[in-house]
Amino acid sequence: MAKEFGHFINGKRVGGESDRFQDVFNPTTGEVQGRVRLADRSDVARAVEAAQTAFPEWAATNPQRRARVMFKFRELLEKDMDNLARLLSQEHGKILPDSRGDIQRGLEVIEFACGIPHLQKGEYTDQAGAGIDVYSMRQPLGVCAGITPFNFPAMIPMWMFGVAIACGNTFVNKPSERDPSVPLRLAELMMEAGLPDGVLNVVNGDKEAVDALIDDPRVKAISFVGSSDIAQYIYSRSAAENKRVQCFGGAKNHLVILPDADMDNVVNNLIGSAYGSAGERCMATPVAVPVGEKTAQTLVEMLKPRVEGLRIGPSLSEDSDLGPLVTAAHKARVSNYIQTAIDEGQECVVDGRGFKLQGYENGFFLGGTLLDFAKPEHKSYHEEIFGPVLQIARAANFEEAVELPSKHQYGNGVAIFTRNGDAAREFARKVNVGMVGVNVPIPVPVSYHSFGGWKRSGFGDTNQYGMEGVRFWTKVKTVTSRWPDDIQGAEFVIPTMG
Ligand code: NAD
Repeated sequence: MAKEFGHFINGKRVGGESDRFQDVFNPTTGEVQGRVRLADRSDVARAVEAAQTAFPEWAATNPQRRARVMFKFRELLEKDMDNLARLLSQEHGKILPDSRGDIQRGLEVIEFACGIPHLQKGEYTDQAGAGIDVYSMRQPLGVCAGITPFNFPAMIPMWMFGVAIACGNTFVNKPSERDPSVPLRLAELMMEAGLPDGVLNVVNGDKEAVDALIDDPRVKAISFVGSSDIAQYIYSRSAAENKRVQCFGGAKNHLVILPDADMDNVVNNLIGSAYGSAGERCMATPVAVPVGEKTAQTLVEMLKPRVEGLRIGPSLSEDSDLGPLVTAAHKARVSNYIQTAIDEGQECVVDGRGFKLQGYENGFFLGGTLLDFAKPEHKSYHEEIFGPVLQIARAANFEEAVELPSKHQYGNGVAIFTRNGDAAREFARKVNVGMVGVNVPIPVPVSYHSFGGWKRSGFGDTNQYGMEGVRFWTKVKTVTSRWPDDIQGAEFVIPTMG
C-alpha cells in the first residue's frame, strides 16, 4: 500500500486538515510510492502554536540540558544511520554512500551544537564606569522556521534546527515535498532524545505553507535553502515582515585547472564532484575551466572515457557512481538544458540522454554528459542545470580563469587545482565567490566554520552553522548595571535566606 506522509506537530505524527496531496516517487523505478499531504494555513498555524507554547520553558532550560538532548540525538542518529540512508535513497535517488554522507554532514553540525553552553556564553566588562558593569547575553528569538530543499533532506534541516534548538528556540521545518520521510524521522529521533513536545515540528507543504510561515507574526526568523528566485522571494517577503531572514540559493561552481596541475588528480576529483549524486548538489562542480589550450585538450581526452564509463545504478546500490534524478520533470529539465547547450554551439563530447538502465527502464536515469566550449553568453552556462552534466569553459590565461566565476551570477563555491602556492593564494583572495577550494573540489566548510555563498547564491548577512549560525539564531541583549554604594541609610548587608 502506498505510504501517506502528514506532519509532525507537538511531539507526534499527524495527518493534517488539507485535502491537497503530492505524489512521492521512487526515482529508481519511476513508480509512485506514496503521497504527501500539502499543509494549509490551519496546519501551519497548529505547528506554530505548538512551537510558541513550548518556547518559554525550552528557552529557560539551561544550556547544558539542551546540549544533552543533542548528545543523545547524535547517538540515536548513528544507530539509525542505515535505516535513514535507505529512506533517503529511496525517495531522493542518490546512492547509499551519498545518503550516508548527507546524514554524516548534518550529524557534524549536531556535534558542533553539543558545545552550546560554551558557544552561547555572553561577554562581561567589569567597572565600565565607576560602579558600572556591562554584560551582554545571546537570547533565543522564539519560534523559528527552516524551509529546506530536496537535495539534502537530512543535512540541511540539521544545519538549521540543530543550532536553532540548541540556542533555546523552538522550530518548524518545512521540508521539500519531494522527499518527506527523513525530516519526519529526524523529528521522531529528537523526541526520543528527550526534546519536549512542540520544540521541533515538521509541516509538509508547498508555497501555501511557506507563505503561511512568512505571514505569521509569531515566527521570528526564517532560514531558507533552495533555488535563487524562491530565495529572493522569501528573503524580501520575510524582511518586509521584519523577520530575521537568511536565504541560500542556486549555484554554478567552477573548477579551475592551471597548466601545472596533476591531471590524474583533477580528473578523479571532477568525476566525483561533477557527477556524484547525479550533480544534484549545490556544491557540485558543473563547470571545468582549463587554462590554456594544452590543458583543455588533455582534460577532454582524459575525461571522455571516464564519463562514458560512469557506473549508473539503482539508488540502493553501494558500488555505483550515481543513481537517478529526483523526478521525471527534473530529468526533462536537465535534458532540455543539454539540447540548449548544443543549440548554442557547445560540443557534446558525451551525451547521456539515451541512457536506460536495464530492468529499471522507467527510472529517472540520465547518463553522464560532457559539453565543451561553454561561453559566458550561453543561457546553459549562465543558469544552473543541476544534473550529471559537466560543461567546459576554456580560459586563455589566469586572469580569465578568475574572471569567469567572479562574473557569474552565482557565487557559491569555486576550486582551483595547481601546484603553485602563489597562484592559489592570489586566486583565493581575488575570486568573487563565497567558498573556495584549493586542490579540494567541493569546499564545504566543516561544521565549526560556516557555510554561505555570495551574489545570487546567498541573500542576507549571515552564514549557516558555526558561530555565524549561533549569531543568526540569537539576539544580543546588553545590560548596563550600577549598584551605588552611597544610597542614604543603606547598610552593606548580603541578603540571606529566611
Ligand atoms: P526549490 O527552490 O524548488 O525548493 C526549496 C524549498 O522551497 C522547498 O521546501 C519547496 O517546497 C519550497 N518552495 C518551492 N516553490 C516555492 C514557492 N513558489 N514559494 C515558496 N516556497 C517554495 O529547490 P529544490 O529543487 O528543492 O532544491 C534544489 C535547489 O536548491 C538548487 O537550486 C540548489 O542549488 C539549491 N541548493 C542550494 C544550497 C545552498 O546552500 N546554497 C544547498 C542545497 C540546495
